[in-house]
Amino acid sequence: MTGLHDPSQRPINYLRISVTDRCNLRCIYCMPAEGVSLMPHQAILTYEEIYTVAKAAAELGINKIRITGGEPLRRRGIVSLVRMLSNIKGIKELVMTTNGVELEKFASELKKAGLSRVNISLDSLNRKKFVQITGKDKLIDVLRGIEAAKENNLHPIKINVVVLKGINEDEILDFVRFGSEKKLIIRFIEYMQINQSYPNNLYLPNFVVKQIIEKHWGPLEPVSSLDSSSARYFKPKDSNVLLGFISPVSSPFCSSCNRLRLTAEGKLYPCLLENFAVDLKKALRRNDEVYIKHLFDWAIKNKSRKYRKLCKTDKFMCQIGG
Ligand code: SAM
Ligand code: SF4
Repeated sequence: MTGLHDPSQRPINYLRISVTDRCNLRCIYCMPAEGVSLMPHQAILTYEEIYTVAKAAAELGINKIRITGGEPLRRRGIVSLVRMLSNIKGIKELVMTTNGVELEKFASELKKAGLSRVNISLDSLNRKKFVQITGKDKLIDVLRGIEAAKENNLHPIKINVVVLKGINEDEILDFVRFGSEKKLIIRFIEYMQINQSYPNNLYLPNFVVKQIIEKHWGPLEPVSSLDSSSARYFKPKDSNVLLGFISPVSSPFCSSCNRLRLTAEGKLYPCLLENFAVDLKKALRRNDEVYIKHLFDWAIKNKSRKYRKLCKTDKFMCQIGG
């Protein structure tokens, strides 16, 4: 069996695993104001079950795994999961997306356990605005987390900035400067209003972000060697700072999408924008490894890469892992 879906397209080789729906921040674009009804502990896959899925996935062509959440560092024993996943044959890249709040504490252990690198979400360099976006006064902790990631060679470190109209759009140039000074890759992400309850007035297209940067720095040069299935990379002519643009709304990348998403409760979503998922939990609880592999393979083969306009789903980003 193979992870190749169609030889003309990118192989499906990337699995995002959400390990929890819990989080220590309350970002306005991710968590609903009233919070999400949290899954009971017994509903969540154990680390052994996640390992079983990841091993089956690796045998089907998955070679990159991202651990995400909710906030993955909130789940107890997360370092042991990293160690387990990093030992799976065929997994070349094991990465994590974190809000960075507790990264200072974990960076060294994560590196030793086999984590390749981290993406850190940070939407404001201004303390008050950080509180406005995330609901918590944790900017200093995140900045310390970034330093710890650098010290422990969890690089290249990518900073994910969701650009929010009228909230942090005035910080775009500050982030470029921050990336340049700290030698970090800065990635501007378009806000996706994937749930009806998310605010409907925050979207700012990335071409506007690019215009703002070019007005100050001059034309941005493409860095094609770094392009991924979702991000396009550029750099200003007179600077080495790398800038990524992830534009799922203005420039969807469905045709080159190479990822599947596993939720903390064992649902495998072939597409972020579809409500359809394959439930792996029953097969996992029966210890039926053959059936798990069959279901995973089915999800790979049935992943649609047809263009999908952004639509409302019944999910929240904190549940599906972003
Ligand atoms: N808690 C971790 C964090 O914030 O990095 C990991 C989970 S979070 C759901 C993963 C990524 O999804 C983050 O980079 C976050 O900024 C992004 N994200 C969440 N909601 C989003 C939205 N509505 N539109 C675009 N990106 C979003
Ligand atoms: Fe938590 Fe990450 Fe969602 Fe923010 S984006 S609420 S940090 S899961």
